[in-house]
Amino acid sequence: MPRYRTLKEIDDAGHDLRLWCYRCQRAAVIGSIIWQHFESRGLSLAIADATPRFPCRQCGARDCLILPASRPPISDRDATELVAGFFHAMRSASKKRDYGSDRIARALIDRARRDGHWPPPGRKK
Ligand SMILES: [Zn+2]
Repeated sequence: MPRYRTLKEIDDAGHDLRLWCYRCQRAAVIGSIIWQHFESRGLSLAIADATPRFPCRQCGARDCLILPASRPPISDRDATELVAGFFHAMRSASKKRDYGSDRIARALIDRARRDGHWPPPGRKK
């Protein structure tokens, strides 16, 4: 497995982030697209710098291991629903003036369009 230095490198390689808490061993997987959230706030994308920004949801420790996680293969239908759900969630977030989330939504839609999952059936181009 190649060594990744930044969150974006993991995303570019097509992996999500697996977070593993050193204290309570809780594991979680989050979308690696989160790097855009870091970038929009001027935060370092380096994995070493990002670690304290992922507090454990179970014990609150800011001491996790970040590893690349394989993305599960998803069907076209699931991908469409995923992106559509994200789009609507992010649109309501953007109405609250959260521009970072709006950028993430747009990036997801761009990716879905590239992969042929956008627009969802029944939605105008
Ligand atoms: Zn923990």
